[in-house]
Amino acid sequence: MAQITFCCNFGRDWIRSGVGHFRKCPTPDLIQSLELMKKKQCIECGEPIIGRADKRFCSDQCRSAHNNRLNSDATNFVRNINNILRKNRRILEELNPDGKARVHRDRLSEKGFKFSYFTNEYRTKSGNIYRFCYDQGYMSMDNEYYTLVVRQEYVE
Ligand SMILES: [Zn+2]
Repeated sequence: MAQITFCCNFGRDWIRSGVGHFRKCPTPDLIQSLELMKKKQCIECGEPIIGRADKRFCSDQCRSAHNNRLNSDATNFVRNINNILRKNRRILEELNPDGKARVHRDRLSEKGFKFSYFTNEYRTKSGNIYRFCYDQGYMSMDNEYYTLVVRQEYVE
């Protein structure tokens, strides 16, 4: 960005266009827009904020638009699924304190486990498929029982 200086001889606004070189400011509007660019911007609309330095929004409308967006349906949708996944993970962890366990499907269901939600799948060389909720995994043995495992490392 150009650096704004003031001519000490005439008191006019000047712009420094390079090291040691000065040229006359073309218009006062440019000076003004450069000044505005240095000011804080509204985090909702990007307009410069006039007023207190700690203000984050240019107006009440932008403040409520921002807050509404945070609580939008899309955000809630993501939040709800994240909560399901975290709950699934918690249930698996609870039922598998030693890193390996065998549990009946009903025990998972009773605790509110949702079988449709998992973060990733892992297929072993022998063709078994483990489903994971983050690090906590489970594999259906015969549709009645599940083997629970814990994965230590992230898998691509
Ligand atoms: Zn705004």
